Amino acid sequence: MIENLTIENFLEKLKNKEFSAKEFFEKLFEKIEKEDKEIGAFLSLNKEGAIKEAERIDELISKKEKLPPLCGVPCAIKDNILVEGLKCTAGSKILENYVAPFDATVIKKLKEAGAIIVGKTNLDEFAMGSSTEYSAFKITRNPHDPERVPGGSSGGSAAAVTKNFCLFSLGSDTGGSIRQPAGFCKVVGLKPTYGAVSRFGLIAFASSLDQIGPMTKNVRDCEIVFEIIKGKDILDSTSVEIERKFEEKKEIKVGIPKEYLVEGIEPEVKSAFESAVKKFQEKGVKFEEISLPHTEYALPCYYIIACAEASSNLARYDGLRYGNFCEGKDIFDTYSKTRALFGKEVKRRIILGTFVLSAGYYEAFYLKAQKVRRKIKEDFERAFEKVDLIFTPVSPTLPFKIGEKIEDPLKMYLSDVFTVSVNLAGLPAISIPIENLPVGLQIIGPPFSESKIFQVAKLYERD
Ligand code: GLN
Repeated sequence: MIENLTIENFLEKLKNKEFSAKEFFEKLFEKIEKEDKEIGAFLSLNKEGAIKEAERIDELISKKEKLPPLCGVPCAIKDNILVEGLKCTAGSKILENYVAPFDATVIKKLKEAGAIIVGKTNLDEFAMGSSTEYSAFKITRNPHDPERVPGGSSGGSAAAVTKNFCLFSLGSDTGGSIRQPAGFCKVVGLKPTYGAVSRFGLIAFASSLDQIGPMTKNVRDCEIVFEIIKGKDILDSTSVEIERKFEEKKEIKVGIPKEYLVEGIEPEVKSAFESAVKKFQEKGVKFEEISLPHTEYALPCYYIIACAEASSNLARYDGLRYGNFCEGKDIFDTYSKTRALFGKEVKRRIILGTFVLSAGYYEAFYLKAQKVRRKIKEDFERAFEKVDLIFTPVSPTLPFKIGEKIEDPLKMYLSDVFTVSVNLAGLPAISIPIENLPVGLQIIGPPFSESKIFQVAKLYERD
């Protein structure tokens, strides 16, 4: 029955007692236990905790008490976001037995809103990857074609929504990890403006780029979840409370960057994008070509900055403070044995990050990348003087085959070519499914323009 439900109809049916939360969750776990064998969306389930919580919700309903806004709504959480008392592995052997000692701020907010956590979802180790194949524990398959990847790194969270294992999930996005899997799995995914959602309790990958965001079946649900999780948090000094009001304009002007529709893009992606644009045109949206001239430098710039920050963030896994450790004969031995637990991709990035930060190379690489980052941000600022929003495809290809890119990191990095600029510039962007193909349309807006993005994205869903 979850198949046809959105958050709003679920709440209505639960309040009207068409089903009890307990029976809903018992059936849901039956479904997950049966169907997730093939897909591998979850790393762990929270069955006992969820059913107990469902009983509490049923009690609230029977006592006719005031109900919280996400009362009983089932959700899945990427396994790099801390949920008190549950394992949080970040897809890494180094955190295999780590149990979260507190709730991330987003989880605290979801719990207060009455949402129920079904389980923790699979991801590329420390969110580094674009296919979920770099998880240390298992691969996740694309529910639309099990021979193909679901995207990544939030592949488990995307697949869980597609398979109706939950009504929404949370992912994290450092360079595309919410938007690209959302596109590959035909769901909606939002990467909020940097600072709009607290990162407290998110296992850090690259702190100046990371954001947590919702993945849902439609745009309205995405908006509902975003409203709950956003806002200033004293535990994350980069978080802010900004409500940006946009005047109601009759005409919406959208820019299409000419640098995005060039070589390397698969013909199916290009034609799906063009048909989607046509549909928006029919609804009165005006389009014009724009230029984001520094686009070609975005990918190298991203990989320098993300790896630099990762090498620093991952230094905390020293075998003494978190999760698994291997005892050695002295401190250095312990340290190196423990850090050998990192997977290949993570090691590659730590090495690259350490290199670009080292004396003699810092100016040539890291500092240069920071300057390029500024240029990329300015490209967007200039564009938003002319247009309200920017449309691009989310990725240049449709979902690729499992194993196809795993041995070729550069090819894997190219999957992010359309998404990383948004993180470098700190902007909000949504991915919505288009033309019934596993590719998303990316709608990018100026900082804190999420409400505008939702409003325009909904036009596509309304027939
Ligand atoms: N695929 C990109 C990377 O590997 C982005 C990952 C992410 O957004 N977490 O870095």
